[in-house]
Amino acid sequence: DTTLLPDPRDTLQHVFGFPDFRGVQRQVVDRVLNGQSTLAVMPTGAGKSLTYQLPAVMLEGTCIVISPLIALMHDQLRSARANGVRAATLTSADADWRETMDAFRAGTLDLLYVAPERASQPQFLDFLTSAPVALFAIDEAHCVSEWGHDFRPDYRGLRPLLDSFPEVPRLALTATADHHTRGDILTQLGIPEDGLIVAGFDRPNIRYTIRHRDNPVRQIARLMEDEPGPGIVYAPTRRKVEDMAVKLAAATGRDVLPYHAGLPPEERAANQAAFVASEDMVIVATVAFGMGIDKPDVRFVAHAGIPKSIEAYYQETGRAGRDGDPSQAVMFWGAEDFAIARQRLGEMGDARQEGERKRLDALAALVETPACRRAILLRHFGEDPPEQCGNCDNCLAPPEVIDATELARKLLSA
Ligand code: ADP
Ligand code: MG
Repeated sequence: DTTLLPDPRDTLQHVFGFPDFRGVQRQVVDRVLNGQSTLAVMPTGAGKSLTYQLPAVMLEGTCIVISPLIALMHDQLRSARANGVRAATLTSADADWRETMDAFRAGTLDLLYVAPERASQPQFLDFLTSAPVALFAIDEAHCVSEWGHDFRPDYRGLRPLLDSFPEVPRLALTATADHHTRGDILTQLGIPEDGLIVAGFDRPNIRYTIRHRDNPVRQIARLMEDEPGPGIVYAPTRRKVEDMAVKLAAATGRDVLPYHAGLPPEERAANQAAFVASEDMVIVATVAFGMGIDKPDVRFVAHAGIPKSIEAYYQETGRAGRDGDPSQAVMFWGAEDFAIARQRLGEMGDARQEGERKRLDALAALVETPACRRAILLRHFGEDPPEQCGNCDNCLAPPEVIDATELARKLLSA
């Protein structure tokens, strides 16, 4: 009975130190406190973690958080503990399993983070029956759907666990789900259709620009001259990351460091830490970079080639301007990017191919449109935006569209 609980806003202020809820956070928290299963689709940076961390503090029992990456879990763990929330992880990287399991059994844990492959094992189910569970939070829930852009079969194995606790609410969270993927998440995780809450996706302070690539180093160097603040450049391969970091540093004289999964872990961590602390550094990275990084003042995100999908584009560009100040997202693309992506399609199984093809077509439509970029993005996420945003390349400098009928008339009358 939630009437016995204190006002969530008191907990928000006293435990988390925020004056107020943002956007749909309150709606999501209220549902969870009422024991109602929910799918919250909220953009990156909207504050999804709070929607389970706060109920976890308020409710009796532990909130089990399913999260796909150990690095993400440890980031979350650090920030939860910084707020005085009692949190732990159960991963292969942890040495304190016994303490964590004892704390769960004693009911002194608010949050317990686990990976889906562990959560779906029968031993984990047995373990959970030893103390009260308050909530299941399923982060990056699009991973449960083959329609999503990052399908992980281990997420499918969660259902028996969830169904073993029919009285425990489920909160699925994602930043990146189109209409089809949302329906799939609801079905796969057993969440009722009226449990869907979608937050606004518009990021009005981000200016979107999409250009043909001719000389990417020169093009990005020019962008860096306009934007002296911190920036992220996404490049498609490790080799291009390294090459570009060196060339951009030489071309601009600015501090530029590389980041990709092939670097020694210490160097990767050091480069990331330097970037987070810096007010003017540029990091050139593969898409491995960015998840779980909380840097509010990124002034630009550049893509030196096409991203994987509109969802990926939105998520990657969404790392710009979280502080609300004017920021830029600039993509430099070439026809060969699409040719390579389509070639890869041919090497996939039938089931995945169809989804990938649709994603690629949607991305091509965004890249090639003479119309408002933001309108296309927002429509992709199920919103009904105005025709013109006034803050993308096509709105600011409308491209000349050749009218075929007009052209034919002129040719005939000449
Ligand atoms: P997401 O997972 O949706 O990308 P996070 O949960 O990582 O977002 O939160 C993004 C940032 O917003 C974090 O720095 C978090 O502390 C902050 N934040 C969350 N809720 C609020 C709030 N109500 N008021 C102010 N800042 C908030
Ligand atoms: Mg998150």
